[in-house]
Amino acid sequence: MSISGKADIAIAGGGLSGALIAYRLRLTRPDVSVVLVEQGPSLGGNHTWSFHGADVRAQTYQWLSAFIVHCWPRQSVRFPEYERVLETSYCSITSSRLHEVVAPMLGDRLILNAPVETIAADRITLGNGDAIEAKAVIDARGAKQSKHLALGFQKFVGQEIEFSGPHGIEAPVIMDATVPQEDGYRFLYILPFTANTALVEDTRYADGDALDRGALRRGIEDYCGSRGWKIAKILREEEGVLPIALAGDIDAFLGETEKGVAQAGMRAALFHPLTGYSLPDAAALAELIASQQDLSGASLARFTRGHAASIWKQRSFYRLLCRMLFTAAAPAQRYKVLQRFYRLPQPLIERFYAGATHLGDQARILAGKPPVPVGRALGCLSEGQYLKSAMKA
Ligand SMILES: Cc1cc2nc3c(=O)[nH]c(=O)nc-3n(C[C@H](O)[C@H](O)[C@H](O)COP(=O)(O)OP(=O)(O)OC[C@H]3O[C@@H](n4cnc5c(N)ncnc54)[C@H](O)[C@@H]3O)c2cc1C
Repeated sequence: MSISGKADIAIAGGGLSGALIAYRLRLTRPDVSVVLVEQGPSLGGNHTWSFHGADVRAQTYQWLSAFIVHCWPRQSVRFPEYERVLETSYCSITSSRLHEVVAPMLGDRLILNAPVETIAADRITLGNGDAIEAKAVIDARGAKQSKHLALGFQKFVGQEIEFSGPHGIEAPVIMDATVPQEDGYRFLYILPFTANTALVEDTRYADGDALDRGALRRGIEDYCGSRGWKIAKILREEEGVLPIALAGDIDAFLGETEKGVAQAGMRAALFHPLTGYSLPDAAALAELIASQQDLSGASLARFTRGHAASIWKQRSFYRLLCRMLFTAAAPAQRYKVLQRFYRLPQPLIERFYAGATHLGDQARILAGKPPVPVGRALGCLSEGQYLKSAMKA
């Protein structure tokens, strides 16, 4: 296809969400022509995306399995005063697998190394002036800054490491918070890919978004040293600064886009407020978009906006917890909130990560003596007030 062309649906941004939408459309609606435009040299960038088994429905898991490179039957957490193994599966997808699967399905309808300059309801215009006309345009260009969202940050560097001997870890360690608490809530995250290799991430839940790569790399090295794991080779590295949602005006946020353009992924604030995970939401939205009868631009823009707003509104409880974590708990004490949470029943924890807590769960999570000062906890109850003061600051 010439770069100037026509499509039923043009997607700006070939990251996780854009690529999954293109995949589902190609798979289930072969009659619909899709063009995917990505500024980078491949789909997905440099990521290992993971999810808890209970985060996605069985039928979603079925089609996502084309992308899954590792799945473990259980996971564990470690805190200074508490450790636990959860019999909840944990699965990982890599950006290289995403590219391997989706790129051939699109062929010359995947346009790489092509920064999008502007988008409108009926076209995507590239930096060089070429345009792709389409009946519908989806903006999946990832996270954007907005004054309408008040955020904390989950910052990390992860290294896929080959050790000179077995590390002895069999299942993912989702949080090892038995490390010095620096820069907010700090934990190590370990995905044991083989007996001798693992992805090891040093993560900090911090107020600011500055990423101190040196400190995080040292954190990984010290942690491996403390466990007696000798590093033979660093195979690859990834990093992230993920948003943690404290408060927001979702209608104003979603309204910032060009009229008639549908939004997906982080661009539509579709992420778990406490973990910044977006994979389950991205997969669910890809399925929903591909199942729409009416794939016209106006209809998709209306649908995605309504969907994103409704998910955001359903998750107000999570944002309250995030405000408690970030503003009521002193940084060095933040781990206590998570340590306490992980003593709750496994099904509740699974529903929590799946964004499906019910009122009973919420009461249970908040019951008892809070691990943060009561006065400060009360101070962050109102989302509206919090957003107002964050916008003033
Ligand atoms: C290293 C890392 C690890 C993560 N791990 C997990 C995890 O384990 N589980 C989980 O659920 N979430 C995880 N996340 C969070 C979240 O899922 C990811 O950020 C996810 O990639 C977001 O998907 P997205 O499609 O919305 O945005 P992105 O994947 O960021 O995709 C946006 C795409 O748009 C492209 N783009 C941007 N601007 C333009 C432009 N002007 N023109 C053309 N293309 C453009 C970008 O190059 C990018 O490829 C992780 C994030 C990072 C950074």
